[in-house]
Amino acid sequence: MKKKIVAANFKMNKTDEDIKKYFAVFLDRINGLRNKTSFNDFDAELIFAPPFTSLSETHKIIEPYMDFIKLSSQNIYSEKSGAYTGEISIDMIKSCGCVYSIIGHSERRNIFKESDELIGKKIEAVYSGGGMTPILCVGENLEIRKQNGQEKFVENQLAVGLNYIKGRNIPSLIVAYEPVWAIGTGMPIKADDGEAMHGFISDYIISSFSIGELRVIYGGSVTEANIKELMGKPHIDGVLVGGASLDPQSFHNIFKLAAAQ
Ligand code: PEP
Repeated sequence: MKKKIVAANFKMNKTDEDIKKYFAVFLDRINGLRNKTSFNDFDAELIFAPPFTSLSETHKIIEPYMDFIKLSSQNIYSEKSGAYTGEISIDMIKSCGCVYSIIGHSERRNIFKESDELIGKKIEAVYSGGGMTPILCVGENLEIRKQNGQEKFVENQLAVGLNYIKGRNIPSLIVAYEPVWAIGTGMPIKADDGEAMHGFISDYIISSFSIGELRVIYGGSVTEANIKELMGKPHIDGVLVGGASLDPQSFHNIFKLAAAQ
C-alpha cells in the first residue's frame, strides 16, 4: 500500500539556528501524537526539504525518526562533478542524508530559466545516485488553465522531464502537480479539479513508463483549511507545502489532518 506524503519545502528560508528551533517545537508535537496514536495507523511519510546549508543539521535532528521522516534537497545539478561553480551534485546531497530531491520546481523553471530538457537530465542524475527518488514538479500557469490547456501542457512537461528514463524499470517516482497560479497565492485548486489532474497524470505515466511505485502529490496554497478535502480524493497521494510549512505548529496540524484521513 502506498504511503501518503506530507512534504515541506522551506525554499530560501531558515538558518541552522532556525532549524533547531523549528524541530524542537515540531518533534515535541509529533512525540505527543505518537504517544496517543499508533503511527502505523497513519500510513504517512513526512519529507523535509530545507536549504542545502541545513541538510546535514536537519538530518542529524530527524535521524531518530527516519522510519517516517525523510530528507529531500530542493534541487541538484545534472552533472556528477566538475567545473560548475555554485552547483550541488546528487552524491553531495546523498552524503547529507537525502533520499529525495525536488526537481523542476516552478521557481527553478521561471526565475532560473530551467528548461524541460535540463530537468530531464536532472531526473536521470537523481536515479544515477542509487536509492534516490525525484519529486518532479509540473504545473500550468493561469493563462494555460483559462484556455483549458493544462492536460496537454503537463503531459509535455512529463514526457520531456522523464524522457531519459523511458524504457527503464524505475522503482519509485513522485510527481508534484503544482499549478503555478496556486503557488503562494492563497488560491488553491478546487479539490475536484485537482483530482481530475491527478487522475490524468497517473494514467499518462502508468501507460507510458515502467514505474514500480508512483505517487502524485499536490502543491499550491495547501493549509489546515483545505488539507482534509484534498487528501480525501483518491488520486491525491499527498501534498507539498511551501508557506504553511514554515511554522512548525501549522505544519504539524496539516500532517495530523492529512495522516488521519
Ligand atoms: C511550493 O512552492 O512548492 C508551494 C506549494 O508553495 P505554497 O504552499 O506556499 O503555495
